Amino acid sequence: MGVFKSADKSADYNCLASEVVCCAVFSMGFSVFSLAHLRLLMKKFVLTIAGADPSGGAGIQRDLKTFEDFGLNGLSVITALTAQNQKRVKDVFPVPARFVVKQIETLVDEYCIEVVKLGILATGDIVLALARLFKKAKFKKIVIDPVFVSSSGYPLLDKKGIILLKDQLLPFATIVTPNLDEAAILSSMKNVSSLEEMKEAAIKIKKLGPKFVLVKGGHLKTVNSEQLTVNGKKAVDILYDGKRFKTFSAPRINKDIHGTGCILSSAIAAGMAKGMNVENAVREAKVYTTRIINPHTKDFGVGVNRETI
Ligand code: PLP
Repeated sequence: MGVFKSADKSADYNCLASEVVCCAVFSMGFSVFSLAHLRLLMKKFVLTIAGADPSGGAGIQRDLKTFEDFGLNGLSVITALTAQNQKRVKDVFPVPARFVVKQIETLVDEYCIEVVKLGILATGDIVLALARLFKKAKFKKIVIDPVFVSSSGYPLLDKKGIILLKDQLLPFATIVTPNLDEAAILSSMKNVSSLEEMKEAAIKIKKLGPKFVLVKGGHLKTVNSEQLTVNGKKAVDILYDGKRFKTFSAPRINKDIHGTGCILSSAIAAGMAKGMNVENAVREAKVYTTRIINPHTKDFGVGVNRETI
């Protein structure tokens, strides 16, 4: 049974129905359902819809490790296969949009999905299919990591996809997490290269419809604020909810680390799935990401391909 065949059969409805069924089964003492099935109905899941990274440092593989670190049950839908190693992406092979949708529908039929996280979407067709699906399957919380180009320079979303993501997908986002280059593209600004420009970009991106915008300043050359700078080595992110800015800073790791964006956005999704509000989820995700990528902490490389770092 596809839950998207009629408009009122939404993911919300599916979760609610599961809970009602559970209560009924418990109170009436039916033995129709196995205990395992009941447990499945009652668990909350977090779903990543993203690309596969065979080297394990980014994408689906990294997201699932993050969910596990947060003690959560991760589900994954693959949008694209990539041929890549620790140094670069060599090729991307997108999954047909209809099959991406089929994977999601099949999961929603069985699982109660609390939070969805989006990574590589590869094509405009996939973006459009997801926008149509989100209209029917009303997922409560959606984290969008707008992945456009790999750090090695390989395009990970086509031009049509970027336009459609701005117009059709961002209105569904609970939070969108662009880095400086992605923020410039989303806000149609020439450059985002200072804290002031990060704020300006956040205001512009907020108008596209997400509830929260997190502009990641990890690639900022300088931060002109004594408060935020320790020997010029802080990674500063700005969260904007349409009313106020909240600044998060963490020690800056002076290396371009493959997969950092995936770690942060999947950790935000995990925090939200555990019931944190967006601000707290971002704070915890920042702490987690710093711990994982900082060679001076004891958890360095936990669940990450160490060679990648
Ligand atoms: N490959 C996959 C599957 C990804 O999801 C991502 C980022 O989201 C990348 C590659 C790019 O990672 P980076 O820009 O850190 O190299």
